[in-house]
Amino acid sequence: MRIDIMTLFPQMCESVLSESIIGRARKNNLVEIYCHNIRDYSLDKHRRVDDTPYGGGKGMVMQVQPMYDCYKAICEMTNNDNPYVIYMSPQGNVLTQQKSLEYTTYEHIILLCGHYEGVDERIIEEIVDEEVSIGDYVLTGGELPALVLTDSIVRLCEGVLSSSECFEQESHFNGLLEAPQYTRPEIWKDKKVPDVLLSGHHANIEKYRFEQSVERTMKKRPDMYKKYIKNSQDN
Ligand code: SAM
Repeated sequence: MRIDIMTLFPQMCESVLSESIIGRARKNNLVEIYCHNIRDYSLDKHRRVDDTPYGGGKGMVMQVQPMYDCYKAICEMTNNDNPYVIYMSPQGNVLTQQKSLEYTTYEHIILLCGHYEGVDERIIEEIVDEEVSIGDYVLTGGELPALVLTDSIVRLCEGVLSSSECFEQESHFNGLLEAPQYTRPEIWKDKKVPDVLLSGHHANIEKYRFEQSVERTMKKRPDMYKKYIKNSQDN
Protein backbone atom coordinates (compact mmCIF):
# COMPACT_ATOMS: atom_id res chain seq x y z
CA MET A 1 0.00 0.00 0.00
CA ARG A 2 1.07 3.59 -0.62
CA ILE A 3 0.15 6.68 1.38
CA ASP A 4 0.99 10.21 0.16
CA ILE A 5 0.60 13.08 2.60
CA MET A 6 0.02 16.57 1.20
CA THR A 7 1.07 19.10 3.82
CA LEU A 8 2.69 22.46 4.47
CA PHE A 9 4.88 20.79 7.12
CA PRO A 10 6.43 17.66 5.59
CA GLN A 11 9.28 17.59 8.15
CA MET A 12 6.79 17.37 10.99
CA CYS A 13 5.26 14.28 9.37
CA GLU A 14 8.59 12.72 8.31
CA SER A 15 10.05 12.92 11.79
CA VAL A 16 7.18 10.89 13.24
CA LEU A 17 6.92 8.46 10.35
CA SER A 18 10.60 7.48 10.42
CA GLU A 19 10.45 6.25 14.02
CA SER A 20 9.50 2.98 15.68
CA ILE A 21 7.14 0.45 14.09
CA ILE A 22 6.06 2.68 11.19
CA GLY A 23 9.67 3.63 10.38
CA ARG A 24 10.62 -0.06 10.36
CA ALA A 25 7.64 -0.95 8.15
CA ARG A 26 8.82 1.65 5.63
CA LYS A 27 12.43 0.43 5.72
CA ASN A 28 11.22 -3.14 5.15
CA ASN A 29 9.08 -1.97 2.20
CA LEU A 30 5.86 -3.19 3.81
CA VAL A 31 4.34 0.19 3.10
CA GLU A 32 5.36 3.26 1.08
CA ILE A 33 4.76 6.66 2.66
CA TYR A 34 5.75 9.98 1.09
CA CYS A 35 5.28 13.53 2.35
CA HIS A 36 4.83 16.36 -0.16
CA ASN A 37 5.22 20.04 0.51
CA ILE A 38 2.21 21.82 -0.98
CA ARG A 39 4.25 25.04 -0.93
CA ASP A 40 6.57 23.58 -3.62
CA TYR A 41 3.63 23.83 -6.03
CA SER A 42 2.84 27.49 -5.41
CA LEU A 43 3.11 29.64 -8.54
CA ASP A 44 3.44 32.77 -6.41
CA LYS A 45 6.89 34.37 -6.41
CA HIS A 46 6.83 34.44 -2.60
CA ARG A 47 5.61 30.80 -2.47
CA ARG A 48 2.33 31.88 -0.90
CA VAL A 49 -0.27 29.19 -0.41
CA ASP A 50 -3.06 31.03 1.42
CA ASP A 51 -5.20 34.13 1.14
CA THR A 52 -7.97 35.97 2.99
CA PRO A 53 -11.49 34.48 2.87
CA TYR A 54 -14.06 35.89 0.42
CA GLY A 55 -16.91 37.43 2.38
CA GLY A 56 -14.55 38.49 5.15
CA GLY A 57 -13.76 36.85 8.45
CA LYS A 58 -10.73 35.95 10.49
CA GLY A 59 -7.78 33.86 9.37
CA MET A 60 -6.46 32.60 6.05
CA VAL A 61 -7.69 29.93 3.66
CA MET A 62 -5.45 27.55 1.70
CA GLN A 63 -5.65 28.28 -2.01
CA VAL A 64 -6.83 25.70 -4.53
CA GLN A 65 -4.02 25.91 -7.11
CA PRO A 66 -1.00 24.66 -5.07
CA MET A 67 -3.07 21.80 -3.57
CA TYR A 68 -4.43 20.76 -6.95
CA ASP A 69 -1.02 20.87 -8.66
CA CYS A 70 0.48 18.83 -5.81
CA TYR A 71 -2.32 16.26 -6.22
CA LYS A 72 -1.78 16.10 -10.00
CA ALA A 73 1.97 15.63 -9.52
CA ILE A 74 1.34 12.68 -7.16
CA CYS A 75 -1.08 11.14 -9.68
CA GLU A 76 1.55 11.52 -12.42
CA MET A 77 4.46 10.13 -10.40
CA THR A 78 2.38 7.09 -9.37
CA ASN A 79 0.69 6.59 -12.76
CA ASN A 80 -2.60 6.54 -10.92
CA ASP A 81 -5.35 8.99 -11.80
CA ASN A 82 -7.76 7.60 -9.21
CA PRO A 83 -6.17 7.44 -5.75
CA TYR A 84 -8.50 7.56 -2.73
CA VAL A 85 -8.24 11.09 -1.35
CA ILE A 86 -9.02 11.83 2.29
CA TYR A 87 -9.19 15.38 3.60
CA MET A 88 -8.35 15.49 7.32
CA SER A 89 -11.16 17.63 8.71
CA PRO A 90 -13.01 18.22 11.97
CA GLN A 91 -16.16 18.04 9.81
CA GLY A 92 -15.47 14.48 8.62
CA ASN A 93 -16.51 10.98 9.69
CA VAL A 94 -14.91 10.23 13.04
CA LEU A 95 -12.16 7.60 12.65
CA THR A 96 -12.74 4.11 14.05
CA GLN A 97 -10.63 0.95 14.19
CA GLN A 98 -13.09 -0.65 11.76
CA LYS A 99 -12.46 2.15 9.23
CA SER A 100 -8.68 1.87 9.61
CA LEU A 101 -8.92 -1.86 8.95
CA GLU A 102 -10.95 -1.16 5.80
CA TYR A 103 -8.32 1.35 4.56
CA THR A 104 -5.62 -1.37 4.70
CA THR A 105 -7.28 -2.89 1.62
CA TYR A 106 -6.81 0.31 -0.42
CA GLU A 107 -3.79 0.39 -2.71
CA HIS A 108 -3.19 4.12 -2.77
CA ILE A 109 -4.42 6.79 -0.37
CA ILE A 110 -3.66 10.52 -0.42
CA LEU A 111 -4.13 12.48 2.82
CA LEU A 112 -4.70 16.21 2.47
CA CYS A 113 -3.78 18.28 5.53
CA GLY A 114 -5.43 21.65 5.93
CA HIS A 115 -4.04 24.54 7.97
CA TYR A 116 -5.09 28.03 9.07
CA GLU A 117 -8.90 28.29 8.66
CA GLY A 118 -8.92 25.30 6.31
CA VAL A 119 -8.99 24.81 2.54
CA ASP A 120 -10.89 26.43 -0.34
CA GLU A 121 -14.10 24.36 -0.61
CA ARG A 122 -13.50 23.77 -4.33
CA ILE A 123 -10.54 21.44 -3.71
CA ILE A 124 -12.87 19.22 -1.66
CA GLU A 125 -15.41 19.18 -4.47
CA GLU A 126 -12.74 18.44 -7.08
CA ILE A 127 -10.51 15.73 -5.57
CA VAL A 128 -11.71 14.56 -2.13
CA ASP A 129 -13.47 11.19 -1.71
CA GLU A 130 -13.98 11.38 2.05
CA GLU A 131 -13.43 13.74 4.98
CA VAL A 132 -12.06 12.10 8.12
CA SER A 133 -11.94 13.58 11.62
CA ILE A 134 -9.96 12.21 14.57
CA GLY A 135 -12.46 13.59 17.08
CA ASP A 136 -14.86 16.38 17.87
CA TYR A 137 -12.33 19.12 18.56
CA VAL A 138 -10.33 21.48 16.35
CA LEU A 139 -6.56 21.30 15.89
CA THR A 140 -4.22 23.81 14.24
CA GLY A 141 -3.57 21.64 11.22
CA GLY A 142 -4.25 18.30 9.57
CA GLU A 143 -0.73 16.94 10.19
CA LEU A 144 -1.40 15.31 13.58
CA PRO A 145 -4.68 13.80 12.33
CA ALA A 146 -2.92 12.49 9.18
CA LEU A 147 -0.23 10.92 11.37
CA VAL A 148 -2.85 9.35 13.63
CA LEU A 149 -4.68 7.93 10.63
CA THR A 150 -1.47 6.68 8.98
CA ASP A 151 -0.29 5.00 12.18
CA SER A 152 -3.64 3.33 12.77
CA ILE A 153 -3.70 1.95 9.20
CA VAL A 154 -0.06 0.88 8.90
CA ARG A 155 0.06 -1.15 12.13
CA LEU A 156 -2.84 -3.22 10.74
CA CYS A 157 -1.06 -3.96 7.44
CA GLU A 158 0.24 -7.48 6.93
CA GLY A 159 3.73 -8.08 8.33
CA VAL A 160 3.98 -4.82 10.27
CA LEU A 161 3.24 -6.35 13.68
CA SER A 162 4.61 -9.82 14.44
CA SER A 163 1.17 -11.41 13.96
CA SER A 164 -2.44 -10.35 13.47
CA GLU A 165 -3.12 -11.61 17.03
CA CYS A 166 -1.31 -8.47 18.22
CA PHE A 167 -4.22 -6.29 17.12
CA GLU A 168 -7.03 -8.84 17.10
CA GLN A 169 -6.92 -8.98 20.90
CA GLU A 170 -6.57 -5.25 21.33
CA SER A 171 -9.20 -2.75 22.36
CA HIS A 172 -11.78 -1.87 19.70
CA PHE A 173 -11.04 -4.82 17.38
CA ASN A 174 -14.11 -6.81 18.39
CA GLY A 175 -16.09 -4.10 20.12
CA LEU A 176 -14.50 -4.66 23.55
CA LEU A 177 -11.60 -3.13 25.48
CA GLU A 178 -8.52 -5.27 26.11
CA ALA A 179 -8.05 -7.13 29.41
CA PRO A 180 -5.43 -5.78 31.88
CA GLN A 181 -1.79 -6.67 31.18
CA TYR A 182 1.08 -7.41 33.57
CA THR A 183 4.80 -8.12 33.30
CA ARG A 184 7.69 -8.79 35.72
CA PRO A 185 7.93 -8.51 38.69
CA GLU A 186 5.22 -10.84 39.99
CA ILE A 187 4.73 -8.68 43.10
CA TRP A 188 5.13 -4.89 43.22
CA LYS A 189 4.12 -2.76 46.22
CA ASP A 190 2.11 -5.73 47.58
CA LYS A 191 0.17 -5.91 44.33
CA LYS A 192 0.28 -9.41 42.92
CA VAL A 193 -0.26 -10.47 39.31
CA PRO A 194 -3.53 -12.51 39.16
CA ASP A 195 -2.74 -16.20 39.82
CA VAL A 196 -4.52 -17.38 36.68
CA LEU A 197 -1.98 -15.54 34.49
CA LEU A 198 0.85 -17.48 36.16
CA SER A 199 -0.94 -20.82 35.90
CA GLY A 200 0.08 -21.70 32.35
CA HIS A 201 -3.50 -23.00 31.83
CA HIS A 202 -4.33 -21.49 28.43
CA ALA A 203 -8.09 -22.11 28.47
CA ASN A 204 -8.44 -20.54 31.92
CA ILE A 205 -6.29 -17.58 30.90
CA GLU A 206 -8.42 -17.02 27.80
CA LYS A 207 -11.63 -17.22 29.86
CA TYR A 208 -10.23 -14.79 32.47
CA ARG A 209 -9.15 -12.31 29.79
CA PHE A 210 -12.51 -12.43 28.06
CA GLU A 211 -14.39 -11.83 31.32
CA GLN A 212 -12.07 -8.95 32.24
CA SER A 213 -12.52 -7.51 28.77
CA VAL A 214 -16.30 -7.52 29.11
CA GLU A 215 -16.19 -6.15 32.66
CA ARG A 216 -13.90 -3.24 31.92
CA THR A 217 -15.80 -2.33 28.77
CA MET A 218 -18.97 -2.21 30.88
CA LYS A 219 -17.24 0.04 33.45
CA LYS A 220 -15.14 2.29 31.22
CA ARG A 221 -17.24 2.47 28.05
CA PRO A 222 -20.91 1.74 28.74
CA ASP A 223 -21.71 3.00 25.21
CA MET A 224 -19.49 0.28 23.67
CA TYR A 225 -20.82 -2.33 26.07
CA LYS A 226 -24.40 -1.57 25.06
CA LYS A 227 -23.49 -1.99 21.38
CA TYR A 228 -21.57 -5.20 22.09
CA ILE A 229 -24.52 -6.75 23.94
CA LYS A 230 -26.94 -5.68 21.21
CA ASN A 231 -24.70 -7.19 18.49
CA SER A 232 -24.31 -10.45 20.47
CA GLN A 233 -28.11 -10.70 20.82
CA ASP A 234 -28.67 -9.96 17.10
CA ASN A 235 -26.18 -12.65 15.96
N1 SAM B 1 -12.23 26.29 10.15
C1 SAM B 1 -12.31 24.86 10.17
C2 SAM B 1 -13.67 24.43 10.73
O1 SAM B 1 -14.21 25.12 11.59
O2 SAM B 1 -14.19 23.37 10.33
C3 SAM B 1 -11.21 24.29 11.05
C4 SAM B 1 -9.86 24.51 10.47
S1 SAM B 1 -8.57 23.83 11.46
C5 SAM B 1 -8.07 25.18 12.43
C6 SAM B 1 -7.24 23.65 10.34
C7 SAM B 1 -7.06 22.26 9.75
O3 SAM B 1 -6.76 21.34 10.77
C8 SAM B 1 -8.24 21.69 9.03
O4 SAM B 1 -8.30 22.15 7.70
C9 SAM B 1 -7.99 20.20 9.12
O5 SAM B 1 -7.16 19.75 8.07
C10 SAM B 1 -7.24 20.06 10.43
N2 SAM B 1 -8.04 19.56 11.57
C11 SAM B 1 -8.38 20.27 12.67
N3 SAM B 1 -9.08 19.54 13.54
C12 SAM B 1 -9.18 18.31 13.01
C13 SAM B 1 -9.80 17.10 13.43
N4 SAM B 1 -10.46 17.01 14.57
N5 SAM B 1 -9.69 16.01 12.61
C14 SAM B 1 -9.05 16.10 11.44
N6 SAM B 1 -8.45 17.21 10.98
C15 SAM B 1 -8.51 18.31 11.74
